[in-house]
Amino acid sequence: MSTLVFGHKNPDTDSVCAAIALADLKKKLGENIAPAMQGALNPESTFVLEKFGVAAPEVVTAYAGKDVYLVDHSDLSQSPDDLGEANILGIVDHHKLGDVTTGQPLECWIWPVGCTCTVVASMYKYFGIEIPKDIAGIMLCAILSDTVIFKSATCTDSDKKVCAELSEICGESDLDALGIEMFKVKSAVEGTPIRELVFRDYKDFNMNGKGVGCGQLELVDLSIVDGIKADLEKDIVDLKAEKGHHTVLLMLTDIMQEGTELLVATDDESVIEKAFGVKPVDGKAWLPGIMSRKKQIIPFLEKELG
Ligand code: MG
Ligand code: MG
Ligand code: MG
Repeated sequence: MSTLVFGHKNPDTDSVCAAIALADLKKKLGENIAPAMQGALNPESTFVLEKFGVAAPEVVTAYAGKDVYLVDHSDLSQSPDDLGEANILGIVDHHKLGDVTTGQPLECWIWPVGCTCTVVASMYKYFGIEIPKDIAGIMLCAILSDTVIFKSATCTDSDKKVCAELSEICGESDLDALGIEMFKVKSAVEGTPIRELVFRDYKDFNMNGKGVGCGQLELVDLSIVDGIKADLEKDIVDLKAEKGHHTVLLMLTDIMQEGTELLVATDDESVIEKAFGVKPVDGKAWLPGIMSRKKQIIPFLEKELG
């Protein structure tokens, strides 16, 4: 039976590509291992894998009894429901340490950088293993995606340095053009059911017993969602009721304007006002300069709700 490596629920490009790359590296280090993902590929990840001719990992939702590595998360709420019955061999991530625990010592690579693939690329170097061209390409895209083409507050010099190395290996020299091409694919909303858009890049959090959900749509232009904004607002109200959450947010992030329109469904609007210094009007608030859920949204909510 092979070990499985997988990222968070509602997998994004980093979760998928870091799983593929870590499986490749570990295989070359002699492990019997395969990448997996907890759900279907999103349009951006589909584009990235097709561009570099890399096969999609298998969708696996049950992990009981399996040896596993986690990438791009260490929160139980973002892991499979049966994770407690799996044997966690390691975690490779770039988020705050979550609530996953283990019965055994584990291999941990958790760095404060913009993308898990930055860590995985550094692991190749550490172990002296050459990064294949196709894997370099998908890791490069994951870093451009997670750091919003180096514009996000989460981006570090390590991310930029690793990208420069990866771009040499895969032969992609115009990173801005590649990034914009990817974000255009990511921005497409036409023909997609509203709930699918809310869940496209969505995470649940447990903040001191209060359920909080936060989705994000990264758009090359906010006007792309003008025609469906009212439906999105209604849907997060419904979703909040279905989940019994305290708060459900949807970040409509304009990557060119570098700001986020926050759609808010909450039991307590004053929490939003205190966290972000802006009072929502009709369930919406414009947050200039805010692009990162991880660094600019979640910690401030946790401070208010913790
Ligand atoms: Mg992710
Ligand atoms: Mg990531
Ligand atoms: Mg992201």
